[in-house]
Amino acid sequence: MVDEGGHNFKRLRDKILARSQAQDWDLAKKEWKLVGIYEADEPDTCLCGHTPIIEVCVLANTLNGSRVEVGNRCVKRFLGLRSDLIFAGLKRIREDSSKSLNADATVFFYEKGVITPWEYKFQSDTMLKRVLSGKQLQTRQNINRKVLDHLSRRGI
Ligand SMILES: [Zn+2]
Repeated sequence: MVDEGGHNFKRLRDKILARSQAQDWDLAKKEWKLVGIYEADEPDTCLCGHTPIIEVCVLANTLNGSRVEVGNRCVKRFLGLRSDLIFAGLKRIREDSSKSLNADATVFFYEKGVITPWEYKFQSDTMLKRVLSGKQLQTRQNINRKVLDHLSRRGI
């Protein structure tokens, strides 16, 4: 079960099961959730053994606190979660701070407490707007800066 990106899903599954309470795969994978992301300074290794990964996702087991680091492709396969879209959102605002953070990244950073409830509401009201007032643009850029600052402090 090695996919075209070189990620060995069987190895990932074995390692996840070894760190889970349940021994049934469908049950065990529900114990895990995405708790953090970061961009590695040096190429990192996915739990499945694949290297290099730069966009690193930190997954935690909600029952026993175990943590693992996994690449986007394995996150998608394992949790069915599009962590790659969060990274794509970050790339977009890094290239142009007048653009809005996308939906996936907005929800993720809101859940992590980086974006306040007020900012979350602002994001949902203005995300699709290309033309903003001067004040709105400033607010958007402040949110973008805050998220990128947070990420550069070795993830969240
Ligand atoms: Zn992998």
